[in-house]
Amino acid sequence: MGNVDLKNLSLQEMENLISQLGERSYRAYQIFEWVFQKDAGDIREMTNLPLKFRNSLSELACTKRLPITDKRVSKDGTRKYLFVLEDGNTIENVLIPDEEKRTLCISTQVGCKLNCSFCLTGKGGFVRNLKTSEIIEQVLSICREIQENITNIVFMGMGEPLDNYENVIKTIKIMISPHGLKIPARRITLSTAGIVPGIIRLAGENLKINLAVSLNTADNETRDGIMPVNKKYPIDKLLEALKEYPLPPGRRITFEYVMMKGINDTIEDAKRLLKILKGIRCKINLIPFNKIEGSNLEPSHPESIEEFQNLLVSKHYTVIIRKSKGADIWAACGQLRSSKMTIKD
Ligand code: SF4
Repeated sequence: MGNVDLKNLSLQEMENLISQLGERSYRAYQIFEWVFQKDAGDIREMTNLPLKFRNSLSELACTKRLPITDKRVSKDGTRKYLFVLEDGNTIENVLIPDEEKRTLCISTQVGCKLNCSFCLTGKGGFVRNLKTSEIIEQVLSICREIQENITNIVFMGMGEPLDNYENVIKTIKIMISPHGLKIPARRITLSTAGIVPGIIRLAGENLKINLAVSLNTADNETRDGIMPVNKKYPIDKLLEALKEYPLPPGRRITFEYVMMKGINDTIEDAKRLLKILKGIRCKINLIPFNKIEGSNLEPSHPESIEEFQNLLVSKHYTVIIRKSKGADIWAACGQLRSSKMTIKD
């Protein structure tokens, strides 16, 4: 068995590999479908490829699986999964079933460099980027586990997706490809803390996926304190990039706003937010802060969240207060982390 994992290859890279082996390029489509649609565990299963070709491909390549090591089910139905990677590092992802929708929140890095104060992932520091195969296998392994397709993907798990740009973009292209996972682009959301060059580059890819931005305050000084990435890419630069972002018709940028008591939850904060959002097609998700170990931050009072929401709604913004899902199993926003076997009861 060769060591090129086919799940790390784009369609173009697959074609290059095939041509090295002297085969015609349409074989790449067939292999892509075996790997990503029929979930072949072995190249020998790819029965519409000539036997000789399967043998020569097997000498060069393989398809690896990422087994689920542990799982927890929340009382609200949210499920958190733990994966141990080949090098012993661990990642988590979260499945949120909701009527017909099965949304998977996936991770893109082991740890994270950005160290947002409201997030447990950042506290453990950064270890490494995930490979494309490790990101896409998070989806395939959950499909295997639940025997159903995933309908929606959110890049909101561990890590900053735009800090692992190449592998994340390659993964998204596999997800939306008619030969890959066939997930409609409008059902994929990438969430960023605001890596401005990454947003500009993403705009140029024209992938038509949704973009979410973890904003959390309209005030640079406050943002510097809770999101150190703001020192490099301050709010005005971030908004400039977002104003240029090519949104498909009818789509909006989502701003995520984690509500933290005494930090960003007053009416003055809401007024500042209104000022900076002018001219941007957007909606706002207010996320009550989920408590994390080792942090003094407190969730905002439900009344403050409601007042905040009311002011924005009165100015015709769509504002949703996100119900915290999976907090009892540490699967809620900001609660994922990457030390060994982190799943808790
Ligand atoms: S919120 Fe996202 S970007 Fe910030 S530390 Fe956590 S994983 Fe990283």
